[in-house]
Amino acid sequence: MHSFESHIRNVPDFPKPGILFKDITPLLQERFHEVIESMASTIKWDEIDYVVGIESRGFILGAAMATLKGKGFIPVRKKGKLPPPIIAESYTLEYGTDTLEMIVNQIPGRVVLVDDVLATGGTLKAVMNLCQKNQFEVKALSLLINLTFLNKFIEEGHPVHSVLNY
Ligand code: AMP
Repeated sequence: MHSFESHIRNVPDFPKPGILFKDITPLLQERFHEVIESMASTIKWDEIDYVVGIESRGFILGAAMATLKGKGFIPVRKKGKLPPPIIAESYTLEYGTDTLEMIVNQIPGRVVLVDDVLATGGTLKAVMNLCQKNQFEVKALSLLINLTFLNKFIEEGHPVHSVLNY
C-alpha cells in the first residue's frame, strides 16, 4: 500500500535506556501530505467539531488534519504552558508522574484526539479524562503509530485509529 514504515527511524535507548524511539521526522519530511490524508481518512468527520492535539508531535499532525478538514484545533499542553483558567490531569509514567493541561472550555463539542505514538496509553487516557471533565465528547482517537505490544487500549465507544501498528 504505502511504504511509510521505511521512513521511520528506530533509535535505541532514546530518550532513556531500554526505549526504542520511533523517530517520525524523516516521514514528515518526505510524505507529510499522504500521512495526514491517511490519518484523516479513518475518521467520520461529520461527527467531529474540533481536533485535540497533544504536545508536541500531536500538534504537527492534529493541526494539519484540522486544516485539511476545516475543523478547529485545541491544544493539550505540558504543565505550566497554558494561561489560566486551566484544567489539569496527572498520570503515571514509568518513573513518577506527569501533568497535562487544557484551557477551561466554554463551548461543548465532539472531538478526535491526535498524537503520534500510542505506547502504554497513559497519555491518551489522561487526555480523555481531561476532555470528559471539560465538556468535550471524545468520538475517536487517531495515532500515526500504535505500539500494540505495549498496550491493550480499548475504550468502549472510542475507536482507536492508527496508520502503522507494531
Ligand atoms: P504513552 O503515554 O506511554 O502511551 O506514551 C505516549 C507518548 O510518549 C506520546 O506522546 C509519544 O510521543 C511518546 N512516546 C512513547 N513511546 C514512544 C516511542 N517508542 N517512540 C516515540 N515516541 C514515544
